[in-house]
Amino acid sequence: MAPALSLALGLAYLCSCGSALRISPASARAAAPRMAYSKVNVPTAEESRKKNPTAADRPSTSAKYANLLPGQRDTKKNSRQRIMKKKSYKRGGNPFDRAIHRDVSQKMSEQFAGEIVNQMKEDTFREVTVGEGDRSITFVLAKEFGFCWGVERSIELAWAAREAYPDKTMHITNELIHNPGVNDLLRNKDIKFMEKDATAVGGKRFDTVGEGDVVILPAFGASLEEMELLDSKGVTTVDTTCPWVSKVWTTVDKHQLSEMTSVIHGKYQHEEAIATASMCETYLIIKDLKQATEVASYVMQEPGCLTDEEFLEKYKHAASPHFHPRKHLKKIGVANQTTMYKKETQAVGKLLEKAMMAAHGPEKIKEHFAAFDTICDATQVRQDAVSELTDASQSEDGSPLDFILVVGGWDSSNTCHLLEIPHERGQIGYHVNTAQCIRPDNSVEHRDVDGNVFVTENFLPLDRPARIGVTSGASTPDSVVQECLEAIGMLKKLAAGVVAADVAVPASAVPATQRASKAAADEVTDAASTETAPEEAAAAVQWLAERGIMAPPSTDGDAAVEAADDEAAADPELPMQAAAPPGFEWGETF
Ligand code: SF4
Repeated sequence: MAPALSLALGLAYLCSCGSALRISPASARAAAPRMAYSKVNVPTAEESRKKNPTAADRPSTSAKYANLLPGQRDTKKNSRQRIMKKKSYKRGGNPFDRAIHRDVSQKMSEQFAGEIVNQMKEDTFREVTVGEGDRSITFVLAKEFGFCWGVERSIELAWAAREAYPDKTMHITNELIHNPGVNDLLRNKDIKFMEKDATAVGGKRFDTVGEGDVVILPAFGASLEEMELLDSKGVTTVDTTCPWVSKVWTTVDKHQLSEMTSVIHGKYQHEEAIATASMCETYLIIKDLKQATEVASYVMQEPGCLTDEEFLEKYKHAASPHFHPRKHLKKIGVANQTTMYKKETQAVGKLLEKAMMAAHGPEKIKEHFAAFDTICDATQVRQDAVSELTDASQSEDGSPLDFILVVGGWDSSNTCHLLEIPHERGQIGYHVNTAQCIRPDNSVEHRDVDGNVFVTENFLPLDRPARIGVTSGASTPDSVVQECLEAIGMLKKLAAGVVAADVAVPASAVPATQRASKAAADEVTDAASTETAPEEAAAAVQWLAERGIMAPPSTDGDAAVEAADDEAAADPELPMQAAAPPGFEWGETF
């Protein structure tokens, strides 16, 4: 459009870069250049359309790819596959020497097994009772729980890579899986976790990776940009992406070919959702049914729905940069983060399908909407099993559970969803990530369904038999579950020592923060020095100490108590009885 010039009124002259200059009519008349219209090459309508095609002028995907073989198309799938076909890209079941894979599988079975867990698995009712009388605990295991094959495969590949390249510098782009123990195991094998840095390209310190290094991609995959960057660096890539995640990528490839926007049910900050989004041409990530309802309302243009501006503002971090709701919600395909709650994904799909029907008519639904079931089986069966466990506990003829223990990383999406099921049905559940969450003062540190981590006291009934349901996330080794169950068992043993009142735990085993006073501590020390402490309680303390849950027992009780008291005194902020249960009196009950 020509610049606006109103000389008579002395209005602002708008130059082509948009700045405004106020000039008087007379000076404007003098300064105004004569326009040489004949020198302006006005593009023809056809030329303009070619340069800046509207949606109507842009060739359809089918027209664009009409004369190209599938492998010649400029799709994200093809970009990904070009990298994956290289010799330096290791993926699949056994990319290394078979002997290495066999050896690593054997070591994994030894490292990650859990004895109590195995006993429960073998029992017809999946139960095991430890202890006797009031000190007994019956653990009831969910039918499906723990490591999924995708995670096992991922760990096995990463571990085998270390064995195959013992002298290479090795990196991993992210946590292999969301389990602190497994990630520590890899760190101990000198596999470097790439540092996150918001200012660096791709948000990570890729500059630490050198040519010839080995880089592992985690179970939930890596973005296409990361894959391309690593490819350009000449590294050997070990891809441990779970095939279920790749299945979602295949789904979004189909959306791209049908010119659909991929609506991903997931969390936009989650690594898997980031990787999946990178494989889409156009995407929008919605985290729950509430957001799906908002999108559906926009699609149907219901009164009160988000305006374009509100939509763009709200989803600015969760949509592709060129996304515009008015343009990109006409044809949508639903995909998901594999670990989302299955029923919610289904509900999101149904809701959006109905909205598209309302907007475009049922007869055109296939043209405007597509949904494929990409929820991973492992996630689904674990969710079903914890539902069953909860239902059995709450049925009239069932044996009620005191609580369900959910074991797994606090940032593990599939584990977090396992807690939601008992929570929705009013069954108490505690999500712990390691055995250290279970504390000797009978409190438990746990994460709730809203993501808050806090401590609940007196979580285990000590004066009667307990019955506890057990499940664990797909990234949790049985050995971690085992440690948690043992820690709970130890609480009963410790309590037995307390109730007998003739026993005590060595004073040094009592955390300084829990000691009410030096006098009380001395009482504990005296008791600890007697010959009457039962072996069970002492063994319990030893066990807890070995796992860093308690301070180790010392033969020099007084010295240990004094050292611990000094520690407490040195920090005036230390709550002396913060972790002690209500009504707790030192020397009387511990
Ligand atoms: S939970 Fe499912 S998608 Fe995730 S690693 Fe396991 S099998 Fe794969």
